[in-house]
Amino acid sequence: MATIKAIEGRSVHQIQSGQVIVDLQSVCKELVENSIDAGATSIEVRFRNNGLDAIEVQDNGSGITPDDYETIALKHYTSKLASYDDLASLQTFGFRGEALSSLSALSKFHIITARATDGAKGTKLEFEQSGKLKGTSVVAAKQGTTVAVETLFYNLPVRRKELEKNIKREYNKVLQLLNAYACISIGVKFSVSNQVPKGKKTIAFLTNANLSTKDNISNVYGAKTITALVPLNLEFDMDPSDRPGATQSARNWSTQVDSGSHTVKIVGHISRPVVGEGRQTPDRQMFFVNSRPCNLPQVAKAFNEAYKSFNITQSPFVFADIKLDTNAYDVNVSPDKRTIMLHDQAALLESLKQSLLELFEGHDQSVPQAQLP
Ligand code: ADP
Ligand code: MG
Repeated sequence: MATIKAIEGRSVHQIQSGQVIVDLQSVCKELVENSIDAGATSIEVRFRNNGLDAIEVQDNGSGITPDDYETIALKHYTSKLASYDDLASLQTFGFRGEALSSLSALSKFHIITARATDGAKGTKLEFEQSGKLKGTSVVAAKQGTTVAVETLFYNLPVRRKELEKNIKREYNKVLQLLNAYACISIGVKFSVSNQVPKGKKTIAFLTNANLSTKDNISNVYGAKTITALVPLNLEFDMDPSDRPGATQSARNWSTQVDSGSHTVKIVGHISRPVVGEGRQTPDRQMFFVNSRPCNLPQVAKAFNEAYKSFNITQSPFVFADIKLDTNAYDVNVSPDKRTIMLHDQAALLESLKQSLLELFEGHDQSVPQAQLP
């Protein structure tokens, strides 16, 4: 008798979903990215009980057309990518059509949506665990979409218990990620709040629809943070052996190096390596590849090491957006899309460290007059 059998469809769905939605952070990441992809200029994230009871993301984006109601939460249904070849030219965060389908498998979730042409009338969509549309009803709603995720992992007891145990830490992790989206998103207003049981609703942070990342950072971290920052504006070739050893233009916080076929630009903001202006923990560091927030532990390490040469006791504030050719990295490495594979990472890190040292040295030589004895 054959012992190898196919796993039943429902179980496959649950297993795969658990890889896309691994924690509270992945829920928020997917929903906020969907809102940005929908062209929203206002995104409100509401946590209930730090996200344990519910997470709601409301946007004023395009809304969803009724023709898509049936398929929106089915696996691999997406409006953003039709074939693998489209991946290289992708302009959106989403592309695999997995988030809503995974959320339907792992939480009690519903959507309320309205398009500009719908007046004040919206539609509430409810789904089965499989992602199949269960029913619709008419509700009052403004243009845009609200996705509500309740009791995340209610059907995965071990994960639910872990989530409950670590909820404070998880919530803080989510806030850090939301900070990154709020800081990088130009012209998008963010509002993030948390309602604890029997307590008051607290605002975690707010941004205006600013036209610069600097103003976003100021809204999120306070105007004082901004005064300790200098612009980050690096440009170099991937291959360090091609680089001239010059320290030219380090003084104006910019290192221009001959651009080759793999030119990398890193733009953003960083704290001056001045003792007393850094922080004890590296909790204010955000990294992006072409404006996509992502985990880049090696890049973070390069920043911290270079900074340590000048300020041994503290960590820098870093907001660094790495501008790369779309064929120089792969976002499709992990199911949660936070891990990015960088082509030629070793060469990039080498050039980055060199450029940062030049940048910080440039600062060292130009102590503001006011600070001289
Ligand atoms: P993906 O983002 O990879 O396409 P998702 O499961 O996250 O997959 O979303 C499926 C589809 O649902 C999207 O392609 C989009 O068309 C639609 N959608 C999801 N969220 C929103 C939203 N907030 N506003 C408008 N459309 C949305
Ligand atoms: Mg998506």
